[in-house]
Formats: sequence, structure tokens, C-alpha cells
Amino acid sequence: MPDNQTDTPSQPFIVPFATEPGFAALGAQFYTRLRPTPLPSPYLVDIAPAAAALLGWDTDVATRQEFIETFVGNAVPDWADPLASVYSGHQFGVWAGQLGDGRAIRLAQASTPAGPWEIQLKGAGLTPYSRMADGRAVLRSSIREYLCSEAMAALGVPTTRALSIVGSDAPVRRETIETSAVVTRLSPTFIRFGHFEHFAAHDDVASLRQLADFVIDNFMPACRETPQPYLALLREASLRTADLVAHWQAVGFCHGVMNTDNMSILGLTIDYGPFGFLDAFDANHICNHSDTQGRYAYSQQPQVAFWNLHCLAQALLPLWLDRNATDSEAAREAAVASAREALDPFRDRYASEFFRHYRGKLGLHAPAGGDKEDEPLLTGLFQLLHEQRVDYTLFWRNLARISSADGSQDAPVRDLFLDRAAWDAWAAGYRTRLQAEQSDDASRRAAMLAVNPKYVLRNHLAETAIRAAREKDFSEVQRLLAVLSRPFDEQPEAESYAALPPDWASGLEVSCSS
Ligand code: AMP
Ligand code: MG
Repeated sequence: MPDNQTDTPSQPFIVPFATEPGFAALGAQFYTRLRPTPLPSPYLVDIAPAAAALLGWDTDVATRQEFIETFVGNAVPDWADPLASVYSGHQFGVWAGQLGDGRAIRLAQASTPAGPWEIQLKGAGLTPYSRMADGRAVLRSSIREYLCSEAMAALGVPTTRALSIVGSDAPVRRETIETSAVVTRLSPTFIRFGHFEHFAAHDDVASLRQLADFVIDNFMPACRETPQPYLALLREASLRTADLVAHWQAVGFCHGVMNTDNMSILGLTIDYGPFGFLDAFDANHICNHSDTQGRYAYSQQPQVAFWNLHCLAQALLPLWLDRNATDSEAAREAAVASAREALDPFRDRYASEFFRHYRGKLGLHAPAGGDKEDEPLLTGLFQLLHEQRVDYTLFWRNLARISSADGSQDAPVRDLFLDRAAWDAWAAGYRTRLQAEQSDDASRRAAMLAVNPKYVLRNHLAETAIRAAREKDFSEVQRLLAVLSRPFDEQPEAESYAALPPDWASGLEVSCSS
């Protein structure tokens, strides 16, 4: 908002967006209307400029007490229609039954020039779906979700967004006593695979169909133009999920809890908990300390995504099952075959996106012989990075600086390897490839620096911001957010944010406790 219109407390607090019912129009079986539970003496931790802009807000708005009271859940404005939705899901490969928004409360759906944004509070108190938990979120995990949502958006990875964090000193018990916070999240919709699984598990085909129609009509209208819109929805969700996970792999992001209730039907990264970015490359890195089996290890993410899509397919199946068929067994087999067909493109799409990302990271053009030609170079590289535990982000960034002619500019990347000869051997093959395509160093470098981030949310960076915030110093959250909002830009004043993690970082553990 322009300076001369800066809000003063005497002016009414006006939201710059209209609202529409959206998800609320679906009907009572999808949610429970309720009010957030107030928190005492709330204070602003931070507001994200880019997310605020999506709603038409300048960050000044957060100086208003009304903003703080609304986005901690103490005031329910007349534009809000707060509700918690019900869903189910598979957790760690096992059917978990009913889950639902246990601590998330949707306030409203804003309609903006860029489309609908559901506005949701996370940590705003008990809901009918809280089960044995307290409906709260701690400051620590709220800062992590807030920073990573916005960092991922800046990296170009599909994600839900985070508008603000409002804190309160109200104690919350986790392993220790911590303080509360509410993150306001934005997403076109928060519908998860688990929403479909819920109605399928209850054999409520009418609601299942209604939910699928809602997603198609609002977010995937092209599916409606196909002979089998529900199969097209499954196919679209598969493709988006393939794109998403290929992008995760490329930036070195581990989600940590890829349960089906944490999978967005729109293929967005959702529910930031025990996530992590790779520091030293370990293909089998497990970022979630609670994941003792490594089900959600970095290398497992593509397979797990595909497994989750099978759960979604299973849930949607009644929508194309011919219930009037005389031979019900044959009808079921036909429905399963159709589901398989709709899921099938996942593999090819994942593979092509994977190669596209990594070719971009390597600054290479597509080879005449197709993706297969890139395989040996990439396989050799992953093996090398894994064996040498090379820092993933620094590797790609420094790789951009080498010369395609000879090893004279190799030092920044070569020094990341303990076994320099192993680097030299791989680099020789890479240089041969660069020379074969007559790569121009300057333009290749620029292209590589535009896709290989300098700044990612390493655990220790988040931890440093969290420790300061616990002492009521929120400046580090703000500074880190600003750095991560321009991940591909050189920011000389922020050089330390791009450095190798300090020794103490190896002792950091993140778990499902949030
Ligand atoms: P998550 O693993 O964070 O995605 O959570 C799994 C389920 O537990 C979801 O239904 C959450 O809403 C619920 N949940 C997690 N933490 C809490 C909490 N502190 N209070 C209420 N429900 C929670
Ligand atoms: Mg969740």
C-alpha cells in the first residue's frame, strides 16, 4: 500500500480481497464449522511479503492489532467462515483411518486476480479431528514451515504458501515445554489424497464424486473435456506428483512424512514437518528422526509418491466402476485396468522431468539420442557424490564455474571432494560432453546459476533463526526469509548463509513432533 495511505488504527481494517464459499459449499459431511481457540497476548513473529502480496496486502498490514488477532485465531472477522475438514489416510504404509484437520482451521477462500487462495490457520486449537493431540503448533515448527514454504516457492517448487506467524507465550508440551504459534497458510485448496480415501473408506460414493467434481471444476477443468473426467483427474494428479517429486530430488529436498494425508491433490508440497535439504549428499538420507525404517528416505521419494498414487487410485475407483455390470468381477477388473492406465504415465513423466532438471543443473542440451544418453554421466555423478558425501548445494553452484576447456577453473568444486582423482575422472567425461555440444562457458554458467540455488533452508539456518526467536528476536527469521526469497542471486552480504553447515549442525534432529 502506498505510504500516504498507510493504515492507522483509527481506520477500519479492510481486507483487499472478496471471499467465496469454495470448499464450504461442498456440504456438512466434508467439515465441521467451529471457532479457533484464542491464545493469550499474541505477537507478530513475521509476515512474508510475497505471500501477503498474493492477497493484495503490503506487509504494513501486520502492524495492525486486528491482523494479529485474526491470524492467531482470537478474532473471527465477518469475512471468515472457519471450518476444519475431515480426511483419512495411510501413515507409514498403514491405513490409519480418520485423521482430519486436527489443528488446521480454514478461515475463508479469498478470490484474487491470481485465483482462489484458501486461508488456513495452523495451530489454532482443538477440532473434532484432533484425536489425542492438543490442536497447537510450536514456534519451532511454525518457523520451519513458514520459511520453507516461501523458500520452496522462490525455488519454483509447487507449494502451499505461508502468510505469517503469530506467536503466543502459551506453553505447549512436546519433548520439552515450548511456546505456541499459528502459521497462516495459503493454498488454492488444501484437499489431500486422504480426503478421497476418507469417503471411499465410508463407501460414500456420492461425496467422493462431489469432491472429485469440485477439484475438476475448480482446478483441472480440462479433465471435464475428456471421455472419463475422473480417470483424467487421476492422471493429472499423477503427472503433477511426478513433476513435484522430480523437482524435490533436483533441489535436494526430503519431505520426511509422505503419508497419503500429506499429499496434495494439486501436486503441491504440503505439511512441512521434519523436512530437510541435503547437506552432504547421501542418497539414502533420512531427514525424519521418527522414520526409523527409512520409508521416506531421499532416494525413496519417487517410489513412495507412486505408492501413494495407488492409494488415490484405489479411492477413486468407484467413480468409474460399472456398478450395473452383470459380471461384477469383470467390471472390477476393468476398473482396475483403467486405473493402472491412468497411473502409467507417472514413470515416464518422472523420468523425463528428472533428466530435464539434471540436464539443466549440468548446463547441458538434450542429447540427440534421448535421455538414455545422459544416464552414464548422471549415474557416475550420483555415485561419486554419495561416496564422497559432497555438499549437494555447493557442488552444483561451484560446478557452474568450471571451464569446458580444461581443469584450470576446477578448484572450487574439486576441493569439495576428498578423492580428487575421482572428481578428475568424472570431470573429464563431463568436459568431453560439453565440448561435444560446443558449450559456451558464459551462457552455460548463467543458465546453471539460474537453476542451481545458492541458498536453501539448511537445518542449521532454520535452527539459528528459531533460537533467536525463542529469545523474542525475530530479525533472523526475517533476514533468512529475505535471503531465501532470492535463492539464485549472489547476495554478498549473505555469504555465510551459503556456507557448509557448522559442526554442531550434525547433532540436529528433526522428528514428527511439531
Ligand atoms: P502430520 O503428520 O503433522 O501431517 O499430522 C497427522 C495428523 O495428526 C493430522 O490429522 C494432523 O492434523 C494431526 N495432528 C498433528 N499434530 C497435531 C496436534 N498438535 N494437535 C492436533 N492434531 C494434530
Ligand atoms: Mg499432515
